[in-house]
Amino acid sequence: MFQPGKRLGRLILELLFPSSCLGCGRGGSLLCVECQDSLPRIQPPLCRRCGLPLPQDTTCWGCREWRDLDGLRSVFRFEGLVRQAIHKLKYENLKALARPLAELLASYMSDNPMPAELMMAVPLHPRRLRERGYNQSALVTRELGRLLPLPVAEGVLVRRRHTSPQAKADSAEMRRRNVAQAFECREGLRGQRVLLVDDVCTTGATLESCAAALKAGGAPSVWALTIAREL
Ligand SMILES: [Zn+2]
Ligand SMILES: [Zn+2]
Repeated sequence: MFQPGKRLGRLILELLFPSSCLGCGRGGSLLCVECQDSLPRIQPPLCRRCGLPLPQDTTCWGCREWRDLDGLRSVFRFEGLVRQAIHKLKYENLKALARPLAELLASYMSDNPMPAELMMAVPLHPRRLRERGYNQSALVTRELGRLLPLPVAEGVLVRRRHTSPQAKADSAEMRRRNVAQAFECREGLRGQRVLLVDDVCTTGATLESCAAALKAGGAPSVWALTIAREL
């Protein structure tokens, strides 16, 4: 619902206090260095494929079903200040957060390189994009493209408007195909390895279905990087 009063109030606040840290309230930046350092990082050892924290460096059972997603890494646990920041970026129109979040991803990638010639954001459902007006992951990916020597592809991967009802899909294979068809790759990727970027990963199912579409479009490998992960 459009609330002009609320929006105006926030605008005035932002003009008066251009950027105060979401974590501690100090002025200067939306996420100060101290608060960035205190964010809940996911620490190794990790599953080599899906990046889940494990007691030792191996592969886990959870990602065995994946066929198309070659790897996944998430920088933080989806809790505390990370959760709050993503919420503000996603639902409270605080688009300026895309930059500091992209910086965190860029520094993670310089320590943990992933195979890619091209980056792209997980697309939003068209209806949600209309409601929200922007795709938070696309904003972060665009900023990431300014920080890294990796091109960003926009509009290549799209979310289809209609997917057939899950209830009709009896077998796991049919369910998988159904989810995979939720996305479409509109351009041939001609052998380019893709890095998918998203804000939060819950089960990895969305990333896996994006990967299926990208591989059908010619990507030889698909990795994903998310800011946070629900654990
Ligand atoms: Zn702070
Ligand atoms: Zn795993």
